[in-house]
Amino acid sequence: MTRTYINDLQNKVGEEVSISGWIDVRRDQGKMVFLDLRDVKGKVQAVVLPMHTEALEVAQRVRPEWVVRVSAKVNKRPERNVKAGVPNGDIELEVLGIEILNEAETPVFDVSSDGHEIGEETRLKYRYLDLRRPRMQRNFRMRHDVLLHLRNFYAQHGFMEIETPSLTKSTPEGSRDYVVPSRLDQGKFYALPQSPQQYKQLLMAAGFERYVQVARCFRDEDTRGDRQPEFTQIDMEMSFVTEEDVMQINEALIIDMVTKLYPEKRIQQVPFPRIPYKEAMEKYGNDKPDIREDKEDPNLLAFVWVVDFPFFEKTDTGAWTFTHNPFSAPKPEFMQDLMEKKNIEGILAAQYDMALNGFEIGGGSIRNHNPEALKKVFEIMGHSLEGIEKNFGHMLTALASGTPPHGGLAFGFDRLMMILHNEPNIREVIAFAKTGEGRDPMMESPSEISHEQLQELGINITKKK
Ligand code: ASP
Repeated sequence: MTRTYINDLQNKVGEEVSISGWIDVRRDQGKMVFLDLRDVKGKVQAVVLPMHTEALEVAQRVRPEWVVRVSAKVNKRPERNVKAGVPNGDIELEVLGIEILNEAETPVFDVSSDGHEIGEETRLKYRYLDLRRPRMQRNFRMRHDVLLHLRNFYAQHGFMEIETPSLTKSTPEGSRDYVVPSRLDQGKFYALPQSPQQYKQLLMAAGFERYVQVARCFRDEDTRGDRQPEFTQIDMEMSFVTEEDVMQINEALIIDMVTKLYPEKRIQQVPFPRIPYKEAMEKYGNDKPDIREDKEDPNLLAFVWVVDFPFFEKTDTGAWTFTHNPFSAPKPEFMQDLMEKKNIEGILAAQYDMALNGFEIGGGSIRNHNPEALKKVFEIMGHSLEGIEKNFGHMLTALASGTPPHGGLAFGFDRLMMILHNEPNIREVIAFAKTGEGRDPMMESPSEISHEQLQELGINITKKK
């Protein structure tokens, strides 16, 4: 018999079906046994009656998380047994036969609860079990739906997905890099990308005009609730545009996605309000203001653009550094200041961040497409001419090869999903997340590598005392 998914049972009342899935709960009442069956689409209650002796014998043996194929008749429940508001609360399966496809050891934790009560280390160690719980199943179903929606939206607007390398070059901007040793060129290292920033700009130089990528990014930072060593960006870039163009298309995308996929949610204000950086700092004390009218409402989404960021800020040592991205352009009215390297603290960047309920969920800028302007940025930051050439020579050469004006943005996809699902941290929306200390307790990584591997790479380990 062909397989029926549990969410299709409503259309099969009176028919015989075959269900494949897991035993969710088993209640043995001696003469008969109740089983809650679960598959990827839902749950349903089944009863094994005394007259089906073979099935009853098997039902008395099965345990939670055993994998079974069940043949059964779909019955309407008598009125008094209907569970209103529960999916499939009005039907019940009368089990005719049970085939055990695989047994399971007693699970280390309950997979029917929301799981918040279980220690995270344990949840991550047995992640495949942890992911069986309905909350996690929904998180990943929706993560897929949102991703598909975003990809389709961009594609419909002429964006092309182009993959960029994971083995790239360490450059002194942004956070700490993860590095990968080269075997063929001992003593040299690749870096994993912190974002595809340079590549996407090079794709604009290459004339693709509209790029998008679901990009994995790597940053060796101390992890926190909304950070992981690797995370996913929805990364986009477009040519011949202004700040307004980039903001508009991404705002339209987010509104479209929320309206279609989260109809229960309310966007507080459309178009999204815009707050200059200075005002956000004065009024809210940060650059990702939480402007919700009602912080108790789990379905309220208060999107806000933060604009007019200062281009440069002073580091602890008194040197200038960029606030967002060295490749940003100044707002047009500050281009002269940049070229003359004056009024440095007053230069505003053509940069925009999207915040949601107190988190930064996206950010981007219009870029410097003029190589001389980009050079000035690095000069202000105190890079020597050789340093600029060594680290960013390829960018300067590309910009000098006929690169159109361009700009873009990247969304932190995990954070966005975390907020949409009211989760306390991004690990709840990353299938195989790492602990707060950056470890994977399931695979036990990071791990040591063999002496032979080290030798091949020409690496000697000196352990911290
Ligand atoms: N690459 C930038 C980032 O990771 C985003 C952008 O400017 O497009 O923050």
